[in-house]
Amino acid sequence: MLYPDLRQKIAETFRILDEKGLTYGNAGNISVRIPEENLFLITPSGVRKAALKPEDILVIDEKRRVIEGKGHPSIETPMHLAIYKSRKDVKAVIHAHPVYSSVFAVVGVAILPVVEEMIILTGGEVKVAKYAPPGTRELANNVIEALGDRKAALLMNHGIITCGKDLDDALEVLICVERTAKIYLLSKLIGEPKLIPEKVIEAEKNLYRLKQKYQ
Ligand SMILES: [Zn+2]
Repeated sequence: MLYPDLRQKIAETFRILDEKGLTYGNAGNISVRIPEENLFLITPSGVRKAALKPEDILVIDEKRRVIEGKGHPSIETPMHLAIYKSRKDVKAVIHAHPVYSSVFAVVGVAILPVVEEMIILTGGEVKVAKYAPPGTRELANNVIEALGDRKAALLMNHGIITCGKDLDDALEVLICVERTAKIYLLSKLIGEPKLIPEKVIEAEKNLYRLKQKYQ
């Protein structure tokens, strides 16, 4: 079996998502890029993700042809491949349906970086990609536009995608954004959330870009 360790890591990451309530049932998908071979590992569609075994993860090429594994690659494969094509820095992508981020995705409101740690980790605000049906090329294009050079974007009426230099990075971004969405929403119960000063936001965005450049 090709890439057993990475396939194991993808299956384990889905169990973490399930345990933390960041997705459920068949929802969500994960991929990892193998840059030296121009191949990708991606979860199959239509299966309960917390029960995934390493051999269930598919190896595909950039044309979505299955190189190794049974079943069909995720319905969102076009979105994953489009992100890898437009962002050379990205080596892993997670798509999930977490509750608090999805609240913002349903209303169509960006998650602003209201907590200090978010900008350096994710690149700034999490914008909402315009609505397009799941699995479409249109959704892939809208996500790329909303993502920009950052590591997270919301999918209107749907969920979130996060990405990173590896799977741990994409997972940390997902946890950070979901936590920020929860804090943002809860803070609205007792007052109006205060934004971080613009100067600090800019300085932290510069730090993020610098970190991206030398990763
Ligand atoms: Zn989805």
